[in-house]
Amino acid sequence: MFQIIRNWLDRRIIRQSSITLAQWDAVCAYLPLLTGYSDAERASLRELAILFLHRKIFEGADGLVITQQMKLIIALQACIPILKLGLDGYNGWVSIIVYPAGFSPKRVVMDEFGVQHNVQSNLSGEAWQRGPIVLAWNNTEHAGIIDGNNLVIHEFTHKLDMQTGDANGFPPLHAGMTSSDWFDAFSDGFKNFERRCKRGKSIGINCYAATSPAEFFAVLSEVFFERPELISRYYPDIFHQLRLFYKQDTLARISSSKGQQ
Ligand SMILES: [Zn+2]
Repeated sequence: MFQIIRNWLDRRIIRQSSITLAQWDAVCAYLPLLTGYSDAERASLRELAILFLHRKIFEGADGLVITQQMKLIIALQACIPILKLGLDGYNGWVSIIVYPAGFSPKRVVMDEFGVQHNVQSNLSGEAWQRGPIVLAWNNTEHAGIIDGNNLVIHEFTHKLDMQTGDANGFPPLHAGMTSSDWFDAFSDGFKNFERRCKRGKSIGINCYAATSPAEFFAVLSEVFFERPELISRYYPDIFHQLRLFYKQDTLARISSSKGQQ
């Protein structure tokens, strides 16, 4: 019963949205990542993004004024990983804070001996457990380039990972997937990728992925949506797991869109 009411409310929110199709089309044109999406997928993405905008709050930091176009650019990209999963993976938090450019928060961290240290690091994005997503707009704008890097997808896939606690590269899996298959694919891939990075052998995937299993999952998710051929070529087992997890075959989508050109 609750689900029926919720679906009805969602349909009403989508119907009453004041954002025109022309506005959505203009933002889709700005995101070449969406080139291979079918009309049905684009329509689903737009509906998800409308609900996303209804449930989340955007806040500009350091004087940044958030325009509607900025919201749409972020919302559409944020909804790519959940296109077949629905919005529930983003439950439990509401704020998206956007800085004009990279930011350097000062933090106090405690080391393994219980000693506190003041640290300040340069960041382009952050995802807080049960807290906000923080993005640097100048990096978000780079979504117009298909290079395997996508800040919005990176930070939002951390949120999917955090559904069961701290980000650890092990999001909740769906029925039909097995933890051992996921663990084997990602742990073998992580060790192999670490070795490649230490030797300076680039395969086109950012070596930031080698810093932790959580970053490995987030960076490989970016690549899965932007340059899936890289994961399919070097880490086919991980590609298979990501395809099952996101319920999208990004490689087939790119191949079919190239065939239509
Ligand atoms: Zn990260």
